[in-house]
Amino acid sequence: MSKVVKFGGSSLADAGQFEKVASIIRADEDRRFVVVSAPGKRHEDDTKTTDLLIALADAVAAGDDASEALEAVVLRFADIVHGLQLEESLLTQIRERLQYLIDTYEQDEHRLYDALKASGENENAKLMAAYLQQLGEEAHYVSPGEAGMLVTDEPGNARILPEADASIGKLRDRSGIHVIPGFFGVSKNNHIVTFPRGGSDISGSIIAAGVEASLYENFTDVDSIYSVNPSLVKSPHEMKELTYREMRELAYSGFSVFHDEALLPVVKKKVPVCIKNTNHPEGEGTRIVATREIVGLPVIGIASDEGFVTINLTKYLMNREVGFGQRLLNILAEEGISFEHTPSGIDNMSVIVREEYLDEETEKRILTRIQEELDVEEVHVERNLAMVMVVGEGMASTVGVAAKATSALAAAGVNIKMINQGSSEVSMMFGVDAAHADQAVKSLYHACFEKERAL
Ligand code: ASP
Repeated sequence: MSKVVKFGGSSLADAGQFEKVASIIRADEDRRFVVVSAPGKRHEDDTKTTDLLIALADAVAAGDDASEALEAVVLRFADIVHGLQLEESLLTQIRERLQYLIDTYEQDEHRLYDALKASGENENAKLMAAYLQQLGEEAHYVSPGEAGMLVTDEPGNARILPEADASIGKLRDRSGIHVIPGFFGVSKNNHIVTFPRGGSDISGSIIAAGVEASLYENFTDVDSIYSVNPSLVKSPHEMKELTYREMRELAYSGFSVFHDEALLPVVKKKVPVCIKNTNHPEGEGTRIVATREIVGLPVIGIASDEGFVTINLTKYLMNREVGFGQRLLNILAEEGISFEHTPSGIDNMSVIVREEYLDEETEKRILTRIQEELDVEEVHVERNLAMVMVVGEGMASTVGVAAKATSALAAAGVNIKMINQGSSEVSMMFGVDAAHADQAVKSLYHACFEKERAL
């Protein structure tokens, strides 16, 4: 049996946090694969090391003097090296490696950003391995290249390649504790390529799937996943267990506790995930599993995410026109836009996309194309939308959840612009004005959790 343990940035922000992490690793001999983030924020106003590294890349890319930005990064690591009384030479090596990356990639902006961003986790993994060795453990730093973390060559947006699985599996045959940096892999032509921001969760999941771990423990700074954003509702319900599908829906809709791309690898191999708190490791945490017994409330969580735009179009007898939807989606595909949802009526259809895909110029071009190529009666774009998601496996077997949700929104004065529910019935989505999103979430939480429990 072996477990993969991933520690997020706040769990590794300083020497004190390193000590906690080391004792968590040492408390269970199954914790053999350790995936680390870069040092995160030590306090509210602090800057994450990854952001310091981005500032360093910005300075180099702009041709400015980057020495101050470089020292700011080194200082973050110095804090840890000195606090743990590690060898001073480790710090010299960090400075040299950063300088080497700058010299190597100065002329290649994409590579420069990826190589520098990846340094946060890379150097942190080296320090964690050195610290565990100092404590007498057989610990090894394993680079993503050595681990077989083979990814696509898309800077800042890496995806794991299928052949990675077999090489990662070989790590099982090695002895000791393996510390692997999160957030990046290596492409076939040997370039460092990072995952999207927050991507160490993805690395942990890939390693957990590759070594077929008995458990993927993801240590962060909360005791468990709450049913709703705790900044909106006081002491919300804590989830003890949820399914992969429920987590995927919630992560997609704004729950940042676990990266939404991180589920796929573990789902494939059915590795259970446990979200735990580094500052309170004896707590049970939240388990994410393939299936769960549906007990208690049908809804498990409520989330919302902003930054959506809808393209709304109307055409009489659209329902009789074979291939209409395909032609519409083809226009978006040709423009490189991926869509999120497509709610439709008989003579109208909406396509919901993320705002970042639709700047004003693209909007103009797309509207003209839709008008001309699909000969629609009317097409317009609506911005500033939020998607509010009510999630729970129990909804499929419970009558009246939609009625309860829509009455709650009506009572709160929130206008529902669209409703969407997939056939799995694991989630129900409401499109509302972004300005009403928080109110919508609060009223839904009240209706689905507090009122229910009071009965
Ligand atoms: N350090 C990276 C970030 O801040 C990745 C991670 O922590 O997961 O996005």
